[in-house]
Amino acid sequence: MDDLVLKAYAKINLSLDVVGRLTNGYHLVRMIMQTVGICDILHFKRTDGEIQITSDAGDLPLGEDNLIYKAAALMKERYQIKGGIAVHLEKNIPVAAGMAGGSTDGAATLKAMNLLYDLGLSEEELCEQGVRLGADVPYCILGGTALSEGIGEVLTPLSPMPDCVLLVAKPDINVSTKYVYEQLDSREIALHPDVDGMRTAIEGKDVAGAARRLGNVLETVTAEKYPIVSEIKQVMLDAGAMGSLMSGSGPTVFGIFAKEDAARAAGEKIGEMGLARQIFVTAPVSGR
Ligand code: ATP
Repeated sequence: MDDLVLKAYAKINLSLDVVGRLTNGYHLVRMIMQTVGICDILHFKRTDGEIQITSDAGDLPLGEDNLIYKAAALMKERYQIKGGIAVHLEKNIPVAAGMAGGSTDGAATLKAMNLLYDLGLSEEELCEQGVRLGADVPYCILGGTALSEGIGEVLTPLSPMPDCVLLVAKPDINVSTKYVYEQLDSREIALHPDVDGMRTAIEGKDVAGAARRLGNVLETVTAEKYPIVSEIKQVMLDAGAMGSLMSGSGPTVFGIFAKEDAARAAGEKIGEMGLARQIFVTAPVSGR
């Protein structure tokens, strides 16, 4: 195989709790992750040795800082591959949004190297390499609905999220993940989300129960500094969302809707109010 096209999907967090901190600064988390139907498309080609990245996204680093580059370099070194890879990235996932856009591109690149260079690695072996790139990379390799623990490398696949419509809106602000975690470290966490209750609701195919239990311990920090997060949530709830939450460290907000019409109307309202420009009506995607 000389070339290959892969879709790299974004995620949202239905539940995100921080339960500890390691001395190296990593946080111990308990999160319920869900793949959504927003994806980057990556075109891979074998090269003689170099790693080259091109993209239609103007604002991304395309050199050694890109997670695609890091993933390819890691595989080259770990498995002593002489060849390289040329990658064209069609970027559709909002950048620095709390949707694991970089991690999912890195995960897709690990998979592509495995296939293009016939390494025969299992998903588990790819995940072991993936965690060296970033805490969300192992989950991005698996996809679907999963409980993520440890620093993100302990994954338990769950039954798929029940059918629903998701409205996703990314406001035009840049949130520093580092700032959000630092703020969180400096305070007592008053309210932990009900991660186990969320898991039970999902496994019981109870969308309303899942919507009621949405919770993200990072939301308080981000929404305090950027009130636009709460404004978008409110528009979604007023428009009939069963629940709404910020994903990851933000600033992306999503809402769970029963009907597509209501989700579209809420999306239009958010656009008209100038709260966000990147707005998607999508749905949960199951793994594999
Ligand atoms: P997470 O949810 O894992 O915290 P995120 O959605 O907040 O991720 P990303 O979209 O992954 O954030 O981008 C964070 C930074 O990573 C960007 O500012 C960008 O400079 C860098 N980056 C490196 N490679 C990529 C990539 N392939 N796609 C997007 N960003 C990348």
